[in-house]
Amino acid sequence: MKKMNKKNNTLKEIAQILMASKSVLLFTHINMDGDTLGSSVALCIALRKLGKQAHILIEDDIAAFLQFLDRDYCTYDTHIIENPDICLCIDCGDVERFTKRKEKFFQGKQKGCIDHHVTTEPFADFNYIDPKAAATGEIVFDLIKELQVDMDKEIGNAIFAAITTDTGNFQYSNTTKKTHLIAAELCDYGVDYNEISVELYQNNRLEKLLLQTKVLQGLTVFADGMAAICGVTQEMFQDTQGKMEETEGMIEILRNISGIEVAVFVKEIEENKCKVSMRSKKFVNVAELSKTLNGGGHARAAGCTVYQSYEETKTTMIHLVEEYLKG
Ligand code: 5GP
Ligand code: MN
Repeated sequence: MKKMNKKNNTLKEIAQILMASKSVLLFTHINMDGDTLGSSVALCIALRKLGKQAHILIEDDIAAFLQFLDRDYCTYDTHIIENPDICLCIDCGDVERFTKRKEKFFQGKQKGCIDHHVTTEPFADFNYIDPKAAATGEIVFDLIKELQVDMDKEIGNAIFAAITTDTGNFQYSNTTKKTHLIAAELCDYGVDYNEISVELYQNNRLEKLLLQTKVLQGLTVFADGMAAICGVTQEMFQDTQGKMEETEGMIEILRNISGIEVAVFVKEIEENKCKVSMRSKKFVNVAELSKTLNGGGHARAAGCTVYQSYEETKTTMIHLVEEYLKG
């Protein structure tokens, strides 16, 4: 899939391509997070303001805490635009992260990619990949300026949601001066940080807490206290009525433990298929680690899929991290 002969374009070039089009279909990555959805919503609004036919094609449910962002932008209907002028993937540079919509993506007359993952190589007809951007939301903010669309509160809310979620609310090492400057500018468009933060962070169901309690009971610390692993099984969901989307953020509890450098979270998707998330605190490059298992991501946050049972996946990950930390 990765074709090295493709290059990065400028945002100006991408704005020109978008302006010359009539219809744009945006693609989020699976397990939608605040960045992929917030960035897509912001760009979708901007494109509609320019009179374009624009929709976001999704394949999985929108997590409850993100649903406030979707005001009739997202659809599961692959026929919503029959022959899109442009198909554009947002916050995602790996077609395996929108597998069920892959065919539709390649039906676009022009294909594009806007992303900030270090592991993404330009693969589409036009690309903008900036691993220095804390969130794809930062890139979309700049792109909307290139499109000369007036920012408004709804665009601002979506950009803010993208940035606050991908930076751990401005805590992670990806946060820069520019991140803060964009957030500050969003105030000018009426964005209310507290309003969005209540939607995103103070909106949990009790079942989530019950699930979290069960998950943390399975915590194992290894590698001389430098790494921690835990996870969630289908049985835990049945026992607590918690949902997969409610495991979001639990890995950060592990990383927050004093002395822990690497945190690993294993989600049992089905028998012999687990989704693994990894986080590091100061020096381990987890993007590199997950690449060894065909995954990817960022230096401090990455993931992959392992086709083994839940227990086997945990053992595989413990060995991988132990070997890596031994150097
Ligand atoms: P999460 O652990 O929150 O699912 O993902 C953390 C980061 O790693 C995200 O930025 C995500 O894009 C990336 N990531 C997670 N899983 C995969 C994967 O299977 N492949 C690739 N290329 N990136 C992944
Ligand atoms: Mn992102």
